Amino acid sequence: MTYDDMYRWSTDDPEGFWAEQARRIDWHVPPQRTLEYERPPFRRWFVGGQTNLCHNAVDRHLDERPDQLALVGVSTETGLTRELTYRVLHREVNVFAQVLCNLGVGKGDRVVIYMPHTVEAAVAMLACARLGAIHSVVFGGFASHNLALRIDDAKPCVLICADAGMRSGKVIPYKPLVDAALEESRFPPQHVLVVNRRLDPAVPMTRGRDVDFSVARAGCEDADVPVTWLESNEPSYILYTSGTTGKPKGVQRDVGGYAVALALSMQTVYDVGPGQVMFSTSDIGWVVGHSYNVYGPLIVGATSILYEGLPTAPDPGIWWKICADYGVRTLFSSPTAIRVLKKQDVTWLKRHDLSALSWLFLAGEPLDEPTAAWIESALGKPVIDNYWQTETGWPVLTLQPGLDLKPVKLGSPGLPNLGYRLRVIDEMTGNDAAPNEKGVLVIEPPLPPGCMTTVWGNDDRFLASYFSHFKELLYSSLDWAVRDDDGYTFILGRTDDVINVAGHRLGTREIEESVASHPGVAEAAVVGVHDEVKGQVPVVFATLKPGDGSVATSASEMGQRVVEQLGGVARPARIYVVNALPKTRSGKLLRRSLQALAEQRDPGDLSTLDDPGALDEIRQALERGPDAG
Ligand code: AMP
Repeated sequence: MTYDDMYRWSTDDPEGFWAEQARRIDWHVPPQRTLEYERPPFRRWFVGGQTNLCHNAVDRHLDERPDQLALVGVSTETGLTRELTYRVLHREVNVFAQVLCNLGVGKGDRVVIYMPHTVEAAVAMLACARLGAIHSVVFGGFASHNLALRIDDAKPCVLICADAGMRSGKVIPYKPLVDAALEESRFPPQHVLVVNRRLDPAVPMTRGRDVDFSVARAGCEDADVPVTWLESNEPSYILYTSGTTGKPKGVQRDVGGYAVALALSMQTVYDVGPGQVMFSTSDIGWVVGHSYNVYGPLIVGATSILYEGLPTAPDPGIWWKICADYGVRTLFSSPTAIRVLKKQDVTWLKRHDLSALSWLFLAGEPLDEPTAAWIESALGKPVIDNYWQTETGWPVLTLQPGLDLKPVKLGSPGLPNLGYRLRVIDEMTGNDAAPNEKGVLVIEPPLPPGCMTTVWGNDDRFLASYFSHFKELLYSSLDWAVRDDDGYTFILGRTDDVINVAGHRLGTREIEESVASHPGVAEAAVVGVHDEVKGQVPVVFATLKPGDGSVATSASEMGQRVVEQLGGVARPARIYVVNALPKTRSGKLLRRSLQALAEQRDPGDLSTLDDPGALDEIRQALERGPDAG
């Protein structure tokens, strides 16, 4: 079937379409109803069906492909490679599930996973899924405050961590960060399960609470843990993401709809099937890691490669070497990573046999034309931009080489994915924007399978954050977009205070709160400023309370505080200490004007500005240069 036929089917007859797609996965009990939509925008797909993500990702391949590689973990940090066949993965998951079971983990319990991008982290996720427990993976680059916020929202009974991660050859101990987070949190888990990689010889262990996985597994090597079947709409996992407030939102996903959407997209979008190899360079802590490092490839019986390390070490050919060594068919990465590689000699790419590689997908942030053009000509393979969000779990806009590859338009992630009814809405009128006119990209509910079901523990926040922006009940992506005459959509950036740093989504409010927690700071504004490599970087403007502390010391302490509380991903690139911040007469910070000035653009409409002197302050500070960063 062509994309056009499939897409039309998916929107004209969603129930018929999805009932057919549901056959792509194993059901313990088949669904009784394809869609229940009695309480819009809440919807339930595959109602009454019982299934399990771990069964679909692992057990169901045991008969046909036990000795095929399932997961490969390549670490250029530790120098170790771990290759797990489906048979070995099944064993490891059972052992891990038994250890969790012995710690009291069962159906519906939350388990926070705070680990580097390793095979062990994927095994931990699958073990939770096997037990019907709800995992919440927290990106290993986040620091203790971020971890504590997520613990307090998810209220886990167990936290799984590694002793340490590694970055650029440096050991980064995780356990002290976990201990600090548990001290800060109001709902610390009963147990911390430590997967000891023997990277940190001084890993601190608290008696009675902390459990060494290598000790705990000793009595569980032969364990057979039965799969816990879940109704299709029960929660599978929570993944936190940044929004406009300082408090991250727990994106909740179901079981059946998610599995079906992944199975479908593995074929139609990523064009990877049983026995084929997919390499996604994302981290397990992000949504791409969940969908296309762990669940997607495994559900279809493919091999998935997990890479821990820099794209440039030991040399800038490392990803291409991995592609050649394992016969990777589809590579999935981010524009930032390609911009990093673009600075290197193109011959690094030519030294490896990339004949098996068919497609390069890039997502997570806008793909600029020079980067797309460079990598396409260097590789000689199609480069496909795809747009999605943590909330959606799988692409919203993409081209579909697994069906028929429509022409690529540089700068656009393409056409609506199957099952998505997309519109572009004029923000002021709430009506549909005309072709080539800017508006907000929205999804007409019911959201297709795979998308979030709600905000964990907070249906009201789900409604307020996503469905309250227009006169009609529509899911707002909070992204500006235009659609051209051919239906190709171009994404023009966020409508809210979320910024995108190297494909990582950060809330400027979270960084502002962290900076403002410095005792010397009166007020802080954080904006995302264009950066050649990372897309955007956080830039801080802060005013100080009266006192005698030095400006330079205060500024560098603010930067340290952000790194300590939120992690290196949120590190401000530049910090400017000023005497006043530009505000409206009603006291609202003019972040857009600040951002424009920092990007040497026109600050825009200043009619509401309270004190024009504040803008001169900012201009002078920018000219003078940052006080830290
Ligand atoms: P995240 O939830 O971290 O995946 O971030 C989602 C946000 O990243 C979206 O709302 C967009 O602002 C941005 N984004 C993701 N993919 C793309 C893309 N292909 N082009 C432009 N922006 C993108």
